[in-house]
Amino acid sequence: MPVTPTRWLAEYAWLPEHAEPTPDVLIEVEDGRISVVTPLTPGSRPPAGVEVYGDAVPLPGLTLPGLANVHSHAFHRALRGRTHGGRGDFWTWRDQMYAVADRLDPDTYLALARAVYAEMALAGITCVGEFHYLHHRPDGGAYDDPNAMGAALVEAAAHAGIRLTLLDACYLSSSVDGQALTGPQRRFGDGDAARWAERAAAFQPADSHARVGAAVHSVRAVPADQLDKIAEWARDRPAPLHVHLSEQPAENDECRAVHGRSPTALLAEHGVLGPGTTAVHATHPTSVDLTLLADSRTGVCLCPTTERDLADGIGPARLMADAGIGLSLGSDSHAVIDLFEEARAVELDERLRTRRRGHFAPLDLLTAASVAGHAALGWTDAGRIAVGARADLVTVRLDSSRTAGVPPVGAFFAATAGDVEQVMVDGRVVVADGRHLGVDVPAELSAAIEAVIAS
Ligand SMILES: [Zn+2]
Repeated sequence: MPVTPTRWLAEYAWLPEHAEPTPDVLIEVEDGRISVVTPLTPGSRPPAGVEVYGDAVPLPGLTLPGLANVHSHAFHRALRGRTHGGRGDFWTWRDQMYAVADRLDPDTYLALARAVYAEMALAGITCVGEFHYLHHRPDGGAYDDPNAMGAALVEAAAHAGIRLTLLDACYLSSSVDGQALTGPQRRFGDGDAARWAERAAAFQPADSHARVGAAVHSVRAVPADQLDKIAEWARDRPAPLHVHLSEQPAENDECRAVHGRSPTALLAEHGVLGPGTTAVHATHPTSVDLTLLADSRTGVCLCPTTERDLADGIGPARLMADAGIGLSLGSDSHAVIDLFEEARAVELDERLRTRRRGHFAPLDLLTAASVAGHAALGWTDAGRIAVGARADLVTVRLDSSRTAGVPPVGAFFAATAGDVEQVMVDGRVVVADGRHLGVDVPAELSAAIEAVIAS
């Protein structure tokens, strides 16, 4: 194994709370943590091309803190480009997604997730929140190890060199009124929340790159009388708790018809909301819902490229931010894995809705993509280039055909995942010269997807 240098000289680095990147920052790394962050004074900067800081390795371009992908279903990556041409909506897409789910086992899922997480590493993602509900065999029976699928995901993240929060999702019913799981959904279910809790508690990966959190799949998939148990499980640990919320107007309508209240109000009543909770999507909340989310300090993970792809609608991002709701970002269905695109979509979608510009500052977008995302996944010591933080450094080229001539502060409006040149996770370089050091990403993606797509 090549030894990773411990002193770096970033041409630009985006430091915490700074409105724009700082030039010429010396960053030192020790035992996976950032130990020194020193912006050089103008007089002490090295002349162009001259190395005056001994063994400090130059990082040309813009160095960002690690990006966090807060919402992932790794197997959805197999559907990219296969479901986008025709008509249909979320529900027709879901049927295609179930067909892939039906073909996965711990081995094929390990191969697919390893390639998907490596694609994420290439995009500058140092941590992923995997919202995991493919727990059992296709007929609903448990594997010999009931957490074999979760273990495959943890191992996949280790191969890809990124951290993972396994958000173990409770998924019990197929509709808001509690219909049983059928067909491909059978493998998602544990029967009830108590059995879910037992299985989830038994999964304790020893690997330092992984932690376990909880998830309520949605108010469709968890009956109201099972919600408290899941909330309690997460609160007791404490562990992050995530929930799909109001992605579809139909979910709101059904919840009102069955429970006489919105999904957000139902979750609030059963203790699901709170500072450790992240609501995913929240695309169609009422103003009362927003108050419930804000008052309980529940965060929201927006997934703009998925919401765009599935014709879900545009979440009220500015209203949420104004209410004090912390925003993070996820690539969810992986139609796109590019947090630059997710981040700028938060601003650009708001422009489309309001026909005005300038809703979010570049620092707001960086915060959502980095420190807020890591916090939503339980890694409160990551996502900042600061002394003591985990040494996650993502260096973006400023000389590509897309970024040449772009000021560093404009990177979130110009760069793509393809402009990421180097990625360090916990002090270890996993991407160099734009290539993953352990995984042949295109080849492994092709092979893994071919193995699970119906012929
Ligand atoms: Zn999702």
